[in-house]
Amino acid sequence: MSYVDEVIERVIKENPAEPEFHQAVREVLESLRVVVEANEEKFRRDALLERLVNPERQIKFRVPWIDDNGQVHVNTGYRVQFNSAIGPYKGGLRLHPSVNIGIIKFLGFEQIFKNSLTGLSIGGGKGGADFDPKGKSDREIMAFCQSFMTELCKYIGADTDVPAGDIGTGAREIGYLFGQYKRMRGLFEGVLTGKGLSFGGSLTRTEATGYGLLYITEEMLRTHGQSVSGKTVVVSGSGNVATYAVEKAQQLGAKVVTVSDSTGWVYDPDGIDIAALKEIKEVNRQRLTEYKKYRPGSEYHEGKGVWSVKADIALPCATQNELDLDDAKTLAANGVIAVCEGANMPCTAEAADFFLEKGIYFIPGKAANAGGVATSALEMSQNSERLSWSFDEVDGKLRSIMVSLFHNIDDAAKKYGFEGNYIVGANIAGFEKVVDAMYAQGIV
Ligand code: NDP
Repeated sequence: MSYVDEVIERVIKENPAEPEFHQAVREVLESLRVVVEANEEKFRRDALLERLVNPERQIKFRVPWIDDNGQVHVNTGYRVQFNSAIGPYKGGLRLHPSVNIGIIKFLGFEQIFKNSLTGLSIGGGKGGADFDPKGKSDREIMAFCQSFMTELCKYIGADTDVPAGDIGTGAREIGYLFGQYKRMRGLFEGVLTGKGLSFGGSLTRTEATGYGLLYITEEMLRTHGQSVSGKTVVVSGSGNVATYAVEKAQQLGAKVVTVSDSTGWVYDPDGIDIAALKEIKEVNRQRLTEYKKYRPGSEYHEGKGVWSVKADIALPCATQNELDLDDAKTLAANGVIAVCEGANMPCTAEAADFFLEKGIYFIPGKAANAGGVATSALEMSQNSERLSWSFDEVDGKLRSIMVSLFHNIDDAAKKYGFEGNYIVGANIAGFEKVVDAMYAQGIV
């Protein structure tokens, strides 16, 4: 059996009931096959893949908190410190009832390669809790965040592990988490990114993932003689990534006709009203059913359906496995030319393979949404020098990171004979740098 197959088999056996983690490992290792096979004897002797797929450390802890009625709840918190070969662990905190160790490991594993692709000095990690922020009062959110950080603060720090936002963790939660860290550790340091501007946050961080997604999409299309301008775009999600993907796509001259949340989706044939979307989601924290009040010409549908709308570009920006093979076929039949993942692993493996087969340009999340973590690393730099850069300065750096990231994955794909396959390109380019650092640092 080949080394790659052997390691995939062991991961499945040793990490039962973690399908998302298996999916992520399989996707990465399958596409690294060509590099691994060229070095099989050496990598096998040094157990390189085993060291890559086993987190350096995983922490699981109890998070008790009291609701507004005096009822005590207990959630489970996680932090997986996956790989620190190229820098301190870096990756978000997800607060969602679906969170479990397998989901955090899948996200942490992906994060290793994504962080490497940014070209910055950040290792891979991820964390979160099975806490549902929906419907909670501000005080309850604060109570949860304080309890979560009381334990987490023992394991993180500006030079060891720097968490950030993710699903369910936005500016409000980062603020409460930072306050508790400072109180527990007595340190005002850049231990979290996505902070408010008044206490060390970076301009452009809020917009970074969505903007970065459009910068890489634009660069990829440009190399194929096309552009975002004039295209019709379908977006899923209506959170941080989706909102700023919609905004930048519009700024680049596209018409975005959909957004969604976990209960339904909006179709606005005249183009999503970004000001209305921000007011509903960021200010009032309401459901998308409200959108029709702002735009009577739009439609609201319950359930799933964004991918049935005819478009040139699809940007899945909600959650993992939200776009399956049937959706991929519908998009293709409707003439989609590009699919770029704003979320982490939103396309199933079958859907991604189908896009490649059909010659539809496909950029995987670890490259396409790397603008978020790249800008987080820029926030870390600003915190270290205790300076704040202007919006344009950070945005300019973000754009150039995404442009070079695209060429990096494009070149890696070409070098190994997989021209146009950005999944292979991203995994190989991310892997090479991490492996180089792991070899240099010995067996640790
Ligand atoms: P948010 O919490 O701001 O938004 C998530 C959006 O996805 C919401 O519209 C939410 O709907 C929807 N959603 C969440 N879970 C589901 C589900 N199970 N089914 C359908 N819809 C769902 O998160 P972000 O925008 O920050 O993150 C979105 C994705 O992007 C995630 O995969 C995340 O890991 C990834 N990502 C985020 C980065 C960032 O900087 N924020 C960086 C890189 C990747 P509802 O409000 O109803 O729950």
